[in-house]
Amino acid sequence: MDEALSQLIRISNTVGRDNSLVQGVGGNTSVKTDDGRHMYIKASGTALAEMDKGRGWRRISVEAVQSVFRDKSLGRMDVNSRELEMAARLQMTCDDNMKSDSRPSVESPLHVILDKCVIHLHALAVLSYASAKNGKARIFELFSDEKYPPLWVPYADPGFSLGRKAFNLVSKYQKQYGRKPSIMILEKHGLLVAENSPDKALRLVRKVIRRCKSGLTQLKTGASAKINKQDIARIENIEKKIAKALLVAGGKKLSVNYFASKIVSAISDTPNARLLVKAPPLTPDEMGFVTSPIMWLENAESKNLENQISLSIRKNQKQPTTFLVSGVGLFVVGNKKMTQMIGDIVAGSLFIRRNAQGMGGINGLNKRQRDFIDNWEAEKFRVELAGK
Ligand SMILES: [Zn+2]
Repeated sequence: MDEALSQLIRISNTVGRDNSLVQGVGGNTSVKTDDGRHMYIKASGTALAEMDKGRGWRRISVEAVQSVFRDKSLGRMDVNSRELEMAARLQMTCDDNMKSDSRPSVESPLHVILDKCVIHLHALAVLSYASAKNGKARIFELFSDEKYPPLWVPYADPGFSLGRKAFNLVSKYQKQYGRKPSIMILEKHGLLVAENSPDKALRLVRKVIRRCKSGLTQLKTGASAKINKQDIARIENIEKKIAKALLVAGGKKLSVNYFASKIVSAISDTPNARLLVKAPPLTPDEMGFVTSPIMWLENAESKNLENQISLSIRKNQKQPTTFLVSGVGLFVVGNKKMTQMIGDIVAGSLFIRRNAQGMGGINGLNKRQRDFIDNWEAEKFRVELAGK
């Protein structure tokens, strides 16, 4: 096996198994060959922990990817056709002869412009800053002793716009500092680290996370995580109440499950909890999994629960699927497996929201940015169908 590929599998499995770094299929990694001509990169839709020599990656031509976003004609296309064109062209940059229609990550353009080994994560500790109004200033304070400071990348729509923006900013950084950045913080998105060896890249990830955590205040979660019999009865009652209200208000019989998490329960008990939930989605990644706003319930046993849910359906034109109940915690629509997956993502989002609230306020996706993701997801889906 090519050495670059075995390095990629090793770093992917290492970060992929750490769930404070990676949730679900999120995050991606790449390693360039020593001659710099090819790059092995995670394929979309596979988890990093599951990558092995036969699946979960593609090899692409570095030169071919660079020419995609150097192409000025793409910049002039309308958004939808541009993103489709970009996805199709990225697919054509694969030079691995793999009999697979899996696609190289849409974030490939970010990887090709950086050093040999790249790790990109939607890590909670980093997002606490990347999703906060004063996050940029706090990041530069935290890393003020670095000779080569992190590069902060203001938000850009995923795909072509982000690739182009990062390309321009990295070129500027290189002119100023005589080298490429090794730490990039992408506003409302995540972290990118790049180093010339897998071990250095892994070490840098740990260092950045440690630094970011050192600037966050811990939430007291109470001494015992044990749920007593009385709590269980109350939780089951709330599950039933929400399911019944969803049936009356939305006409669908759905299963509702409690997501047990010390942190979420502690957050639901703070005076700010309501405000945290009200802020818009934080990142494109979050929007991909949590498709309607988290609903705040001051009292899930109240008689007008059905009215509240009807109102939320009318307002958002979507049925709520996650409920944060004051002083109790999180309830999710779906089976046990779904509850675990969505619960993890919402718990992560609440953790970030609480930290960002303490850093000048939450800086979520605005309406235009959310609209782009809504359409982009649809386009991606179509691309997938067309590829079958
Ligand atoms: Zn990302």
